[in-house]
Amino acid sequence: MLSILPIGCYGSDLDHKKCITMQISPTTIIDTGAMLSSIPTEELLKIENVIITHCHFDHIKNLPIFADFMLSMAMKQFNVYTTETIKKQIMDHILNNLIWPDFSALPTRKNPTINFVPIEFEKEFVIDGISYLPIEVNHIVESLGFIIRKGKKAFAYSGDTSYCDNFIDHVNDEKDIKVVCWEVSFPNRLENIAVASKHLTPSMLDSELSKIKRNLPIHTFHLKPNLENEIIEDMNNMKTQMTVTAMKQKKPINIV
Ligand SMILES: [Zn+2]
Ligand SMILES: [Zn+2]
Repeated sequence: MLSILPIGCYGSDLDHKKCITMQISPTTIIDTGAMLSSIPTEELLKIENVIITHCHFDHIKNLPIFADFMLSMAMKQFNVYTTETIKKQIMDHILNNLIWPDFSALPTRKNPTINFVPIEFEKEFVIDGISYLPIEVNHIVESLGFIIRKGKKAFAYSGDTSYCDNFIDHVNDEKDIKVVCWEVSFPNRLENIAVASKHLTPSMLDSELSKIKRNLPIHTFHLKPNLENEIIEDMNNMKTQMTVTAMKQKKPINIV
């Protein structure tokens, strides 16, 4: 079965609302905003693959600490799938032996804790029978969305993005997509901030949905936790005929 389990589905942290981590299988997660505080230790040890959509803090937040955990707890290696550009951003600014140790060379360079696996836009890769097609989306830094597929079932995941025809074209072209996970970060009132930071509001998402050529269930994520009620109120006033629901943490979305 194909599913997505939001471990953390917010664009920041507040109380129990956590930064972005989406679990696709027991071994594989997208982004590391919430892993350590929200996944039990024995489940953390099963994670072998971390896919990073972009370098922003709410997405890489737990990566340095997870590397420390995997080394000190189990001497285990894990894979980090991301682009060369994003890898360099993480290495230059986080794992630079100043902010945090270089876990791509610890305990040894030959057999390190973090094994970077380079990925490229529009080049599909497969982990445990699930394929991932990286799509370039429209964010303030290089950023990935995905078409995630198992057999004849697929869903689209926008990552952090503003208006993005490339993402829309992929959703329209890929007939096996059953569900779209789409970011919404700010309420309509703060559209100027959404535009400046390359995110979406419900009314901006509404105009994106008008370009989708069939009716699909939409699950939103990356809401700013302190503005959640206002964003959901705006979502309830969207013009689209599609069902638009805010993701809930620990509530899996099954692709059927
Ligand atoms: Zn973000
Ligand atoms: Zn971002």
